[in-house]
Amino acid sequence: MTLVDARNRPLRDLRISVTDRCNFRCTYCMPREHFGPQHPFLPRDELLTYEEMAFVTASLLPLGLQKIRLTGGEPLLRKNITTLIQHLRALDPSLDIALTTNGALLLEHAASLKEAGLNRVTVSLDALDEDTFQSLADTTKHTPKVILKGIQKAADVGLGVKVNTVVKKGVNDAEILPLAEQFESMGVPLRFIEFMDVGNTNAWKMEDVMSGSDIRELLSQRFGPLTPVRGQQASEVAKRYSTPEGYEFGFIESVTSPFCGDCTRARLSANGQIYTCLFATEGHDIKSILRMDGTTQEIGEAIASIWTKRNDRYSEERGAKNRPDTKVEMSFIGG
Ligand code: SAM
Ligand code: SF4
Ligand code: SF4
Repeated sequence: MTLVDARNRPLRDLRISVTDRCNFRCTYCMPREHFGPQHPFLPRDELLTYEEMAFVTASLLPLGLQKIRLTGGEPLLRKNITTLIQHLRALDPSLDIALTTNGALLLEHAASLKEAGLNRVTVSLDALDEDTFQSLADTTKHTPKVILKGIQKAADVGLGVKVNTVVKKGVNDAEILPLAEQFESMGVPLRFIEFMDVGNTNAWKMEDVMSGSDIRELLSQRFGPLTPVRGQQASEVAKRYSTPEGYEFGFIESVTSPFCGDCTRARLSANGQIYTCLFATEGHDIKSILRMDGTTQEIGEAIASIWTKRNDRYSEERGAKNRPDTKVEMSFIGG
């Protein structure tokens, strides 16, 4: 059975936030003044167990689920994450399992992630220049060098690898070309993400957004004209453009070119709530059903009933009067 929402969008992808904690404090995601020592991170017993996450996944497979993305917070901070990947892989050998990470711990984890059954990693990296990187990620412990080694290692062990860069105007736009040159030479796809107004704490302003088209303009001065890649799947979040040499850049333009019409993603927060949009104000509790020994059929029915009512298209309505003022934080819901 294929489940569709009120806008005829199927549920194809589930993003699971495995933890709301992180070893970075990226200024656009977890600004330290809001995520300092006083921040009430989730207590351990509120986190879904790996068995519970796999149970939710199993309940959605008959409804058309095809992809899982593990995220957070920083997913590699959660202990024995490979156990979750093994549980998920055991459910379905053809399930596409990806993980988004800041890459700080990737070098040490890449081989075991691959062995456990992970297909792909997406690594976030916003600068090669150490000072710019450390100021954006608000860390002194981690360096772009180690993340680059992790990216190379992931590719070497056979994981699919992509890199994501969030661009904030006046902060890391000078890093666009160095990053582009680095990943073109490594043959690793690079995607640029427009700085988004997620959550309530990152002091988002439209003036700080560098649009995908401005980034393309800059790249084309260095790499030659960029041409849109034909035959892209509608549900792909990034629009791909190719250089004359055939290297592809991706652009995730959720501010200047929203893509809600093709959004097939549900999100499961670390404490077991389903969110139907990245910009949702509240989630739907699934943990209670899990902890009352609900069956996969019951969980599937509960999520199906949430999904059929789904009407979200926040990015397309951005700026309209009815925008919510208390959105959930991205580090909680999972990017
Ligand atoms: N910690 C992991 C990481 O950074 O890759 C996974 C979670 S993080 C929330 C997922 C993605 O969201 C990252 O690529 C990050 O750059 C992106 N992100 C976070 N805040 C953002 C914002 N305000 N605008 C655009 N992208 C954002
Ligand atoms: Fe952590 Fe990722 Fe958010 Fe940066 S973007 S603070 S690495 S969760
Ligand atoms: Fe999907 Fe919501 Fe983003 Fe639109 S704003 S693409 S509905 S997550």
